[in-house]
Amino acid sequence: MINTNKLDILLVDDREENLLTLESVLNSPEFNLVKAKSGDEALRYLLENEPALILMDVQMPRLDGFETATIIKKSERTRDIPIIFITAINKDEVYTQKGYQHGAVDYIYKPYDANILKSKVSVFVDLARKTQKLLQVEKRILQIERKEREQQILQLELRSLKREQAEKQRYMDLVEGITNGIVWSADPDSLTTTFVSPSAEAILGYPIEKWSSEKSFLMNHIHPDDQTKFLAALQRLKTENTLVGLEHRFIAADHREVWLHTGLRIAQLGEEKGRHIRGLSVEITKIKEAEEVLKQSKRRSDFLSEASLVLSESLDYSETLSQVSRIAVPALADWFAIHVIEDQTVKLLTLTHNDPEKTASIKKILEKYPPHKNSPYGVLNVFRTGKSEFHPILKDEVLQDLAQSKEHLDIMRGVGPKSAILVPLTTHGKTFGVMTLISAESGYLYEENDLKMAEDLARRAAVAIDNANFYQQAQAAIRVRDDFLSVASHELKTPLTPLKLQTQILMRALHNGSLEGMMPEKLEKILQTSDRQLDRLSFLIDELLDVSRISNGKFRLNVEEFDLTALTRDILERFGGQLADSKCTVDLKAPKDPVVVIWDQFRIEQVLINLLTNAMKYGAGKPIHIEIKKTSSFVDVSVRDHGIGIKKVDQKRIFERFERAVTGNHFSGLGLGLYIVAEALQAHGGKIKVESVPEQGSTFTFSLPIHVPQEIPQKLPRDRLQDGLQKVSIDPHATFS
Ligand code: ADP
Repeated sequence: MINTNKLDILLVDDREENLLTLESVLNSPEFNLVKAKSGDEALRYLLENEPALILMDVQMPRLDGFETATIIKKSERTRDIPIIFITAINKDEVYTQKGYQHGAVDYIYKPYDANILKSKVSVFVDLARKTQKLLQVEKRILQIERKEREQQILQLELRSLKREQAEKQRYMDLVEGITNGIVWSADPDSLTTTFVSPSAEAILGYPIEKWSSEKSFLMNHIHPDDQTKFLAALQRLKTENTLVGLEHRFIAADHREVWLHTGLRIAQLGEEKGRHIRGLSVEITKIKEAEEVLKQSKRRSDFLSEASLVLSESLDYSETLSQVSRIAVPALADWFAIHVIEDQTVKLLTLTHNDPEKTASIKKILEKYPPHKNSPYGVLNVFRTGKSEFHPILKDEVLQDLAQSKEHLDIMRGVGPKSAILVPLTTHGKTFGVMTLISAESGYLYEENDLKMAEDLARRAAVAIDNANFYQQAQAAIRVRDDFLSVASHELKTPLTPLKLQTQILMRALHNGSLEGMMPEKLEKILQTSDRQLDRLSFLIDELLDVSRISNGKFRLNVEEFDLTALTRDILERFGGQLADSKCTVDLKAPKDPVVVIWDQFRIEQVLINLLTNAMKYGAGKPIHIEIKKTSSFVDVSVRDHGIGIKKVDQKRIFERFERAVTGNHFSGLGLGLYIVAEALQAHGGKIKVESVPEQGSTFTFSLPIHVPQEIPQKLPRDRLQDGLQKVSIDPHATFS
């Protein structure tokens, strides 16, 4: 150890007397003289001490001075201690050189001058002292430097600690500032939540503590249908260690299904805390709802275009409506029904549900209880008002109001209707049907949009039905025209054949000179037959001309005063021959006084002749009864026969152009007589009806005002199109109110 005040000087010599000499020479309060009698002793001393200088004898037994110096120089700690060799021998150059090689700084030769020794020693001691001072300074500098560095490190650590805290705070601020997202972390193995941002409570409703206190909270609340997807995402996260994102539902505290977009990543939370899963779940329920709305509207537009396509292909009235039903279930409704009016009553045309068995049983009940109640709700109400009925939430009181019996109510309740839409099927301003859409087991509640779509569908269906009607009427008209052409050509040919025959007989007689010898009776018979055929021909041609006149609106009345009874008698007289041919008798019942009317005599004569000839044709061999009845302003005329009669279904159409209820093989005719009759009567402001029972006979009765009104009501369109529509339309007020 270096003494700061007194420096140690190690004196090494195997001879005691030499050591004592050195001691006496160097004795000074500045030094501390330490003696060692061998190299070994010197080395032992040096193990723990660092003298400022070593004075060492070269010749020593065992370890000599050089060897001892070599060992000293090998030690890091002692290598710099100056060594002065003291020797009495070997002053030669080689020897001295060897000493320096072993680390000597100087040589002192015996006998030595005490002053020189002293001054040399003092130089080295001085040097050692300065070195010691320098070392001390250096040590202090180092200490200061170290302290400064420590300070800096401390500051840096402090700063990074502060930064870390600020970062943490910023992170927390960020996390807490997220209101529509939840930041959470969880253990990758147990999936136990280790952190969750406060926003979780606002979004999902569970208290924050629950997330970590409840085992498997996260997985327990992910929607069961999305759990596999979630676990797969976690698996991907572990294997690929990338950012993984997915959309899934989460069951909120109030049982709502909340849609979340969750981004997952693995985070290292420091050595001791290990790896964690970090999740950012952003609520996307609104987006999902918007997507759903978009999907719905796409579904609706797809549905409507499919509907339009299907409807455009259908050219049959009931087929069109069945097509509508097929596409409406389940796209629009769980139950779908269409009611139409047939023969003035509301009938269920179609009822559709996914389950045909259910459909059959409910259909039976609905047929058992056809709508007839005066209720402010339901099918009849829509027929009445021509307006849609919308029940976003179908209340039980509506069912109660519509129910016609306990059984009916129970059945309606059993269907479990949640929501309903009823829309009218309207064409040309008339409601001919009602479409009913019911949402039941799907639990779907209809919205305004659904109502609009149902109305749109109804409009398209109505147009399709219109088209189907047009098509069918066009088809029927073509059929009727073709039938007419074949009947007309046959009818026109019928009188021509005998006419030609009679003419040929006369021609032959003329050629062979037998004409002059022909019996006048025979000649008269030939001419009579020819005349009848010409009459028939001109009658048919007149009928055709009349029809074309009616069609062209050239049907004009020339009214005049005449006695109807007298006219009828006159006709019967004129038709005496034909009545006889057909073996019909006629009795006329008329008021005693003349029935004076102001009508178009020619047209009324035509009406009477047509009815009479029909009675003869279709009731040949049976009596005919004609009755004329007069009231103050009207005259009713009926022509009754006991002929083949007319089926109910045909009774209306026989008044139409070319319509016949018989075949040409059995009865000749163009199917124009009754049409002309109806038109002529209508022109007089009157009408005609028929009552008939097949095989029992028919009664045609027409009724005319005695004086033809100045203003004849505008001729109603009597074509089949209008008729087709009238078949399925209804006057809501007249029928149900
Ligand atoms: P046509 O007698 O030339 O066929 P009409 O227009 O006079 O034409 O009559 C239309 C159809 O009405 C007839 O084809 C027939 O089927 C039916 N009809 C008319 N009058 C009678 C009647 N008195 N008895 C039975 N059927 C009748």
